[in-house]
Parts: sequence; C-alpha cells; structure tokens
Amino acid sequence: MSKKSWEQGVRLLPSVDETLRDDRVAELLAVYPRSMVVEAVRDSLAGERRRLLDGDPAEEDMDENSCLDLIVLRTTEAVRKRACSNLQPVINATGVVLHTNLGRALLSENARRAVYEIASSYSNLELELTTGRRGSRYAPLEPVLTSLTGAEAALVVNNNAAAVLLALSTLAKEREVVVSRGQLVEIGGSFRIPEVMAQSGARLVEVGATNKTYPDDYRKAINEQTALLLHVHTSNYRIIGFTRETTINELVEIGRAYSLPVMSDLGSGSLLDLSRFGLPGEPTVREVVAAGPDVITFSGDKLLGGPQAGVIAGKRRYIDKMRKHPLLRAIRVDKMTVAALEATLREYLDEELIVEKMPTLQMLAAGSSQLTEKAESLAGLVRGAVENKAEVEVGKGFSVVGGGSFPSAELPTAIVKINSRATSAGDLQSALMRGKPAVMSRVQDGSLILDVRTVRDHELPALAAAIGKVI
Ligand SMILES: *Cc1c(COP(=O)(O)O)cnc(C)c1O
Repeated sequence: MSKKSWEQGVRLLPSVDETLRDDRVAELLAVYPRSMVVEAVRDSLAGERRRLLDGDPAEEDMDENSCLDLIVLRTTEAVRKRACSNLQPVINATGVVLHTNLGRALLSENARRAVYEIASSYSNLELELTTGRRGSRYAPLEPVLTSLTGAEAALVVNNNAAAVLLALSTLAKEREVVVSRGQLVEIGGSFRIPEVMAQSGARLVEVGATNKTYPDDYRKAINEQTALLLHVHTSNYRIIGFTRETTINELVEIGRAYSLPVMSDLGSGSLLDLSRFGLPGEPTVREVVAAGPDVITFSGDKLLGGPQAGVIAGKRRYIDKMRKHPLLRAIRVDKMTVAALEATLREYLDEELIVEKMPTLQMLAAGSSQLTEKAESLAGLVRGAVENKAEVEVGKGFSVVGGGSFPSAELPTAIVKINSRATSAGDLQSALMRGKPAVMSRVQDGSLILDVRTVRDHELPALAAAIGKVI
C-alpha cells in the first residue's frame, strides 16, 4: 500500500483545540481534570508527529477524520493511564510469601486500621501527652519491643539495611569490624554487607574461609583497631556439607574476653518459633537476644509480618549512642510505619491468636487440606471462566518463604495447573502480569502454575476472571 509523505501526514493532524472540541474528548473533560486531558492531547499529537518524522508516514487512505479518530483514541488511552495510580494491588499466585518485588508482608487488620487512623488525623507522634513536652517517635515502640525480645532497649529505623548502617556508623566508624567470609552476603540485589560497611566508614576485616570460620580466626584478627565483631545471619542461602560456623554464643564469649561489642544482623528475625509450621528451626529473636550479643538488627516486613522497618534491639548503652547519631534523623521512620509496627507488635502479645491475625503467618501455616480445598475452588472458578479453551487441574507443588528467609525450606502446597490450547504458558504469564488486576504466576514444565498459598480467599473470583480474560 502506498504511503503519504510526512509533510502530508503532519498536515492531517488536528490542532490541540480541535481535538479538545471533539465530543469524545469532551466526555473525558467531564470526568478528568482539564490539565490532564490537555497534556494527554499534546502528548498524543507529539507522539504521532514524531512517528511521522521517524519515517513511518500515514497510509494513503488516512484523512483528517481518521487522523482525529486516532488522536482521540491515543488521548483516551493516555488519560486512563494517567488517572489510575501506578502503584496498584497485585494478586500474588507465585507462592512466594515474602516477595520483595510484591511488597513483602501483608499487614494485619489492626495494623491496616492503625495506619489509616494515624494518617487521617494529627497524632502525638513527638509529643508527650502527660507533660506537653516534646516526645520521641520511638517511644511507643520501645516497651513492646523490649518485652517481646527480652532486650534492654530498642530503636526502629526505615529498614534493616539502615539499621546495620546506623549501628556500624555509631560503633565502628574508622575502625575495624571482624566478619566471617561465609557471611559477606548480598540480600535482594542491593544490600551487600561489604558495601554497607564501606558506607558506614567501618573497615571490614574478613576472617575464615567461605565454608569454615573457627573462633580462633576471630581471635587472631582482633587488635587495638577492632571495634566490633559482626555475625550475619545468612538467611538467603545455605552452605551445606563441610562447614563450620562460629556460633553467636561463641562470638559473644570472644567479645566478652576482649571487651568488644558483638552485633548480630538477623535479617528476617522471627518473634515466633516457626518449627511448628514445618519450617526448619531458626532461633527466635528472643533466643538470639538471650545468647547475649550487644546489638541485634532485623527487618519489620519479613517474618515479623509488619511494615518496612529495621529494628535495632540490644544493650541500652549502645542503643542510646545510636539515638544521638545524626544519621538517625535521615533514616527515621514515619508515623505510618510507627502505627503499623506498633499494631503488628501488639498482635504478638497474644500468641494464641497470632496466626489467625497475621496474613504472613497464616500463609506459612496453611495446611495441605486447606490449600487443596482452596485450589479446588479456584480450579472450579477458572474452568467456568475458560470454558473449553484450557485444561485446568489441581496438583501438588512447593512454595518458598522468600524475603531471604529459610532458603532451603520448601513448603508443600496445592497448585492449579493451566494449559491453554492456543497460548503458551509464558505468554499467559505475561498477559496476566499486564492485566487489571495484575496477576503474578509461575511457569513450570510448559504449564501456567497458580500457587494458592499466597492468594487471599476474596481474590479467587478476580483471579479466575483474569485468567478467563487472557485465555
Ligand atoms: C533482608 C536482610 C537485610 C536487609 O533488610 P531490609 O529490611 O530489606 O533492608 C540485611 N541483612 C540480612 C541478613 C537480611 O536478611
């Protein structure tokens, strides 16, 4: 088919005013802010002009009317895109419970309510209501944290990376920190112990080998420049086989002998013994605190199941120093985090109800009969939505905890396996991701897999409908 020259094409484009006068655009103007619509018209015209200049001239049969139709269509798409929020809810059918890319932990109802209340009104964030004096935003969190962990004092910052940074800057700036080579981990692609340490101004002294570090390796590295002995919980990978790790108890003993503080970066600290859900025995925060390190750090949004935050618990003299460090101001938590974290921690005061209340723990604790039942009901809904266009079966699979927790633990789960007659599993997976609501799924052996462990009951109909739309 022949094409028009680009000049001819550009001449066919309507003006901004002409486009705004179109009835269909008037409908947009009735709903959306004028500035948003005008900007979308301008962008659509500029995009079309660029396309023509780039040598993609209009078809011979294009005329002014079809050009206006095209600009109206582009404008409508652009306005709809602008009007909906970029950050949006996603259905997680991956089975990864603490998925960092999907926002990690889901908050309990009480935590969600607390965020809403505190965000909707003024609060006593930094005011002591009994005296009228200036208060501390950390004050509501400290008593509940010390009571749950057994630590003397506690402080909360934006995330665990910030917690480690503050602790190292306060305790070891321009001095040496001894760490085992086997613990120089990278977490989530952006948190690397050696890099965080460099930022803090502390000097890293690596000891031992990747698979083995003995207490004597630490002792030999200690000199007058040593400020801290650091233990990092290697929560997102595991060295198996011929290994020897110096335990936190041994490190505490060395610290005492040399009068050096010991810090434990726990990463995904759990306040609950998760072995009852079939997860391998990891020490709880309380157990680690009892072993006696001076400083312990862990995340708020991993196994704890709260908002993004970094908890620093430990001996009062060290925590007090961190409270005075100027860096704290730059990494302080906001009121919504304080609200969500306080409410989350309060849930743990009643251990009987904790699993019922915390979505993350609920997902980890879900048993096979419960998951199979959920998979059966999802499969039923999906079959209704796809009619004969796909095979839908319930099967068995494994979920992972995620968030750098329990690297080797695989939780037996129930899955819904979908094979479309017309579309490949990979194409279905990307179409689901781009849909509304967006759905994250897995592909395995050529089938689309939905792991129901991380799908909330109320999401099942929307999930089935989303599949119906892409098949
Ligand atoms: C996850 C993790 C971090 C980083 O925590 P964020 O809360 O994501 O900043 C640091 N150290 C360890 C051992 C971790 O597992």
